Amino acid sequence: MIKVGINGYGTIGKRVADAVSKQDDMEIVGVTKTRPTWEAKNAIKAGYKLFCGIPDNVNNFKEAGIELAGDINDLLGQCDIMIDCSPKKIGAENLEKYYKPQGIKAIYQGAVKHDAIGESFNAQSNYDSAKGKQNVRVVSCNTTGLSRVLGALDKAYGVKKARVVLVRRASDPGSSKSGPVDGIVPNPITVPSHHGPDVLTVLPKLNIVTSAFKVSSTFMHAHSLMIELDKEVSAEEVKELFKKTPRLLMVNSSEGLTSTAELMEFARDFGRPRYDMYENLVWEDSIGVEGNELYFFQAVPQESIVIPENIDCIRAMCSDVSAEESMEKTNKTLGIK
Ligand code: NAD
Repeated sequence: MIKVGINGYGTIGKRVADAVSKQDDMEIVGVTKTRPTWEAKNAIKAGYKLFCGIPDNVNNFKEAGIELAGDINDLLGQCDIMIDCSPKKIGAENLEKYYKPQGIKAIYQGAVKHDAIGESFNAQSNYDSAKGKQNVRVVSCNTTGLSRVLGALDKAYGVKKARVVLVRRASDPGSSKSGPVDGIVPNPITVPSHHGPDVLTVLPKLNIVTSAFKVSSTFMHAHSLMIELDKEVSAEEVKELFKKTPRLLMVNSSEGLTSTAELMEFARDFGRPRYDMYENLVWEDSIGVEGNELYFFQAVPQESIVIPENIDCIRAMCSDVSAEESMEKTNKTLGIK
């Protein structure tokens, strides 16, 4: 069993913890919280040992009557690998402060810059590159969504160039910290945006340019993709390719799934915990071709799309399991068809 610790039991951390618990080759040793919040209490209720992510804050937990199993240093000593799910760029600080001095492997999330870690990961694109590495970053939700479709298209037909407009949700549903509450914000204002270069960290040969807006929604990101392929293909061929590609789910506006709002209700009815969707949701009836140009829309469920990737990344770094075997196992345990 691979012994896994989660540093930062927030939106991504709690989902990774639950997904690890579903695998038969890995187990959660414990999770961290930095403050004695409701999520700290819920972690214990969920059966996880709770450690304090900032050693100086241990007393705050005692005062709140929350029992700790120790602090981050105690957790590190018991794990084969840490999944750093702290916010923003804190993961890069944790690398220097904790993981490197202790010589422990660690996985980081999208907000940590590729350059700080040196290796980025998407299971379908570059699973084997993570083998033997001490530090690997699972790319962001948007980059994961783009890598899956662009990787599949490049392999099947060759992508001459990809141009993508991203429409990003303002905040996660459980957060009141960021906006806009109303408005459509070019974000970043610079074109191209950083999303294209981030895709290159896992698909280095791709010709890709991206730009992005932030909008007053919490549900999902949406992408408008315009792709020049190396050869002419029909819309039907692309649909068949996407149906065979793992972690893509085709949805149809003709069935009433006309926006991310309906997709969220679809996700709620899907029956997974926290109404998580691990797949890109590709609008099948948006897929169109003009000569060798391909156009389509997809939605990216930001809170959950990177969860299977974290599980595969653990196997890539800590076992001899192949990419195909790992993805199949992850898909089966998480209920991905
Ligand atoms: P979050 O704010 O929901 O959770 C972060 C957790 O880390 C919280 O529990 C917080 O208490 C804890 N934390 C704060 N400071 C810490 C420290 N110094 N050490 C350890 N833990 C600390 O954030 P999130 O949305 O889960 O994002 C985590 C990472 O995942 C970021 O890199 C983010 O870019 C990436 N990510 C987020 C999403 C998303 O949509 N939420 C999608 C893909 C990737």
